[in-house]
Amino acid sequence: MSAGAAVPVVRRVSELRAAADTVRSQGGKAGLVPTMGYLHEGHQSLVTRSAAENDLTVVSVFVNPLQFAQGEDYGAYPRDLDRDRQMCAEAGAGLVFAPPAEEMYPQAPITTVTVQGLNAVLEGRSRPSHFDGVATVVAKLFAIFGPGRAYFGEKDYQQLAIVRRLAADLSLPMEVVGCPTLREPDGLAMSSRNIYLTADERPAATVLWRSLQAGREAVEAGSRRPGEVEAAMAEVLAAEPKASPGYAAVADAATLDRPEVLAGELRLLVAARLGRARLIDNIGVGCDRL
Ligand code: AMP
Repeated sequence: MSAGAAVPVVRRVSELRAAADTVRSQGGKAGLVPTMGYLHEGHQSLVTRSAAENDLTVVSVFVNPLQFAQGEDYGAYPRDLDRDRQMCAEAGAGLVFAPPAEEMYPQAPITTVTVQGLNAVLEGRSRPSHFDGVATVVAKLFAIFGPGRAYFGEKDYQQLAIVRRLAADLSLPMEVVGCPTLREPDGLAMSSRNIYLTADERPAATVLWRSLQAGREAVEAGSRRPGEVEAAMAEVLAAEPKASPGYAAVADAATLDRPEVLAGELRLLVAARLGRARLIDNIGVGCDRL
């Protein structure tokens, strides 16, 4: 274990297991915040919550090669472990787990985790192997550390839904905690990938938030047809010349199915590319709440 000005960092699976064993042998609770690093206040909000609810909070910082397809930004993904350690310290983490890729994958895995159906819609359409990579690394982190609670952001809503289902289907003895999205003052969801935005693209990136607002307004104005709400969102995305729209979708908040008529708890989800940055965002809308 190498201690520094910030939080100690461990790189080996055996070291993380030992830390988990120690806290549990003392009757303590262990919380896990899985990340790909290059942390921002959104990540910190998950760490703060975990630190308030557990005796030891571990932040994993691992850019997982399994969830990137050829041609995606695995190599370019921003990395700054020293800064991450500092931010983890500020937010109350006890340990950072930053394994090299060969520690997590000493051999190319032929055992992987697939959460069927949920992995194929929305993000899964343009990133077909992405969520199998996510589910596999998350299952490995759960197996290594055995957290009582693990914290995930609603920012990646489909990921949260997949991890919830993974934990339920595999009867994992733990709680998956969903946490609200932190945003910049103009509505842009905080994301490590915002670093890719040029000065020109940065103001245009609010188009995702504006699109979600248009969807919410359509629902609040009484629209109950998914197509109408999606059209309202898509229109905003299409009107931003710097953005290439991905999708604008209405989904059931639990199953991510597209409802025939809007009812109950829904999620509005959008994706768009701005230059090098592929950005996603979503909000909740409750029809029964209106
Ligand atoms: P990432 O490093 O992008 O894989 O994100 C790690 C965790 O932080 C995931 O559970 C994300 O959903 C969560 N997260 C990312 N951005 C935000 C945000 N703006 N607000 C809250 N949580 C976030």
